Amino acid sequence: MTDPIRPQALPNDQALRDRAAVVIPGGMYGHMKTEKALPPSWPQFWSRSEGAYGWDVDDNRYIDFMCAWGPMVLGYRNPVVESAAAKQAESGDTISGPSARMVELAELMVETAPHADWAMFGKNGNDATAAAIRIARSATGKAKFLKATPAYHGANDWFTPVLSGVPADERSNIGYFDYNSIASLEAAVAEHSGDIAAIILTPFQHDSFIPQELVDPEFARRARELATAQGAALILDEVRTGLRLDIRGAWESIGVRPDMTAYSKAIANGYPIAVVVGADSLREGATQVYVTGSFWYSAVPMAAAMATIRHATEIDAPSVMEASGARFKEGLEAQGAAAGLPLSITGPVQMPHLSFADDPELKKVFAFTDAAVRRGVLLHPWHNMFLSTAHTPGIIDEALGRTQDAFADIADLGF
Ligand code: PMP
Repeated sequence: MTDPIRPQALPNDQALRDRAAVVIPGGMYGHMKTEKALPPSWPQFWSRSEGAYGWDVDDNRYIDFMCAWGPMVLGYRNPVVESAAAKQAESGDTISGPSARMVELAELMVETAPHADWAMFGKNGNDATAAAIRIARSATGKAKFLKATPAYHGANDWFTPVLSGVPADERSNIGYFDYNSIASLEAAVAEHSGDIAAIILTPFQHDSFIPQELVDPEFARRARELATAQGAALILDEVRTGLRLDIRGAWESIGVRPDMTAYSKAIANGYPIAVVVGADSLREGATQVYVTGSFWYSAVPMAAAMATIRHATEIDAPSVMEASGARFKEGLEAQGAAAGLPLSITGPVQMPHLSFADDPELKKVFAFTDAAVRRGVLLHPWHNMFLSTAHTPGIIDEALGRTQDAFADIADLGF
């Protein structure tokens, strides 16, 4: 036993849930809504964070394998990023026009991503994916775009997985294909041939609830060829993967370059910013569209993004996370096998996804992650998780000590 198990009840959290139920529809919304979607022990409300740790409002500490659902990549309150942000905040953040940081960050993005000749900024991932689609439509004069099913790219009318409030015709210009299926992509291209503005893809298949699938390089290459043949833009949605797989671009190692890439989440280690970068062939389309927002020009997140990208590059953040991720995967899978509950970790080890064998209703994974949370390790039952460079080998070993206890906690449940 590493530590005593956390009590089931979280009185401060419950008090906030009760108040939220009165003034926030449904008590919470979107991906942060813990009720029903997550194991009962997940806290809804958080009070602070440092390095690889987060604390709930009842002051329980967790090794956080969600990293704010991706944005944290160099550790919470990373001193390099915090000092760059604080320095900029002393001069100004949201002013009546952009600061020099905007040009500097655009230059850094163009330097970092080999396919990029220009950059534009927003706040959330959805800003970047939606802008990329609009730019592709503006550049090509075509209406349709192709996406994998279900492939989340944001919460707008085109992409939200929940159709409440979305008129059916909002999706009339979208064609669908199965990730990693060349035949399915070719069929979608054939069906909409001549009217395709863009093909949008994530670097690997990271849909919720199912084991993750790395991209088949042949599939990526075929997507590139088909987009080129159609005069359509190939958009890589790196909102989730940015800075975790390959800082230059997730598909650089397989030699496939997109025309545009969307980033957000990790690129400023938690400061709100999104980026679209693109090739010269789309510069005119990007010049013609009208995309903007009151906070899209704020200087502090731009300063934070530069510090994050430079520091991540300096320390080769993806390799750091890969080493810790491999240690975590190996340790967890060994514990599962020893407990007679074979589990597998799929996806890149920096973004692990948990699933148990013979668990169609997710009962095992909910029980295990619930026990892990009560042991102080925040694990997710159906969404990919995230490592950061603050997840050192020592912290991974601490987490494994706690997951060992979590396996013991569920040993009597009869799985
Ligand atoms: N694309 C991908 C691949 C994502 O994972 C997400 C968010 N989970 C988005 C786009 C949308 O980003 P945001 O929630 O910041 O709008």
